Amino acid sequence: MKEQINTVIIGGGHAGLTMSYFLSRAGREHVILERGRVGERWRSERWDSFCFQFPNWTIELPGYKYQCDDPDAFAPGREVVRFLDGYSDFLKAPVRCGVEVALLERASDSGRYLVNTNNGTFEAANVVIATGPYQLPVIPAMSADVPKTIFQLHSNAYRNASQLPPGSVLVVGSGASGCQIADDLNQSGRQVYLSVGRHSRRPRKYRGKDYAYWVSALGTTEQIVDTVPEQLRKGSEILLTGANGGYDVNLHAMAGRGIALLGHLQGINGSALILADDLTQNLARGDEALENFKRAVDDYITKNGLEFPAEREPAVESELPSPVSRLNLKDAGVSAIIWATGFRCNFEWVKLPIFDDGGQPLHRRGVIRLPGIYFLGLRWLYKRKSAFLRSASGAEDAAYLAEQITARS
Ligand SMILES: Cc1cc2nc3c(=O)[nH]c(=O)nc-3n(C[C@H](O)[C@H](O)[C@H](O)COP(=O)(O)OP(=O)(O)OC[C@H]3O[C@@H](n4cnc5c(N)ncnc54)[C@H](O)[C@@H]3O)c2cc1C
Repeated sequence: MKEQINTVIIGGGHAGLTMSYFLSRAGREHVILERGRVGERWRSERWDSFCFQFPNWTIELPGYKYQCDDPDAFAPGREVVRFLDGYSDFLKAPVRCGVEVALLERASDSGRYLVNTNNGTFEAANVVIATGPYQLPVIPAMSADVPKTIFQLHSNAYRNASQLPPGSVLVVGSGASGCQIADDLNQSGRQVYLSVGRHSRRPRKYRGKDYAYWVSALGTTEQIVDTVPEQLRKGSEILLTGANGGYDVNLHAMAGRGIALLGHLQGINGSALILADDLTQNLARGDEALENFKRAVDDYITKNGLEFPAEREPAVESELPSPVSRLNLKDAGVSAIIWATGFRCNFEWVKLPIFDDGGQPLHRRGVIRLPGIYFLGLRWLYKRKSAFLRSASGAEDAAYLAEQITARS
């Protein structure tokens, strides 16, 4: 028996819940299918010391704000889970947990959509795919060349240092995850090697305000996808952390704390790492991004005749120990590698002609040329902010899709 329903939302993260908020307001019948629990990725794909990377005052979804004692503090991951559970209860969201969608196809007779799950089939006029921007961990093929004695895992499976065998750790990737994990391991007393790629530094606080304040003041999060060249959209990873009360993620300072910085990892030959000679250049680019950001804030303040406290002269960056151009994993006592090398989408279960050659959905603001199929929560779905939880960033996109669904009905 197929269950008939107007709209199926696939995914019970913040995007799926936000969609539910707008569909409920419009009086549209719907169900959310979630293979795990509400906010599953915040429960099972973040490390123990992880904290939301933006201050508490930014944690909100349509109609619901995070309640806390200190709006300027940074919520631990478990609080984000509590917030999402609270939102689901507040919405009385029709979530069915433990229901995994294995196949989405079009019914040949009715033109409606068949959503096949581990718990029966749904037939729907509309389907909103809200399965997240960070679906499958990417681990480079060179991981197959790592000596078998070395333990390997992706950043999404890292919890804490006790999970790893004793010894030094190589972290590959210097985005927010790689840097936060490297610091976490360093604080646990591990010797850490960090392979550094392209990244963009940001100040945690500048001229008296948190980074989150400035990005919204500068309006960068409101940039629309078509106005930013694809190259810039891919951009380099922004370094932020909310751990330990929030601090500047500064690779120079990390080196000062004993983390050995390496160039980009190009390959592995036996126990020898093949490293690019690009550490100095990557650090310089990251530093330049920081200066550009500060300059943009200064210009904004001047142009608008605003008053903000002047920034103290930054401390002189400590001299980097000379770059490590070679590393032998065995000699360095490396017992584990953490691949902080990102994620990719996985829509193999969607059997509809709506993807480009690279497997990316062909859409405009989440609307596909096939009527009734929608995407929500992807990076750059419509604006730079589209995928983020903070500041109800996806609300505009969800409201737009709810309008489309209502108009179809
Ligand atoms: C390490 C890390 C740290 C981050 N930190 C922050 C931060 O501090 N602040 C911030 O704003 N953003 C942060 N982000 C980004 C944020 O996690 C995502 O933008 C956000 O989780 C996306 O929400 P979503 O609802 O679109 O997707 P998700 O949270 O990924 O939810 C998608 C849901 O779909 C379910 N699902 C997937 N496939 C199926 C299926 N076939 N059937 C049924 N259910 C399915 C999943 O179980 C999941 O619960 C971070 C991301 C990462 C990777």
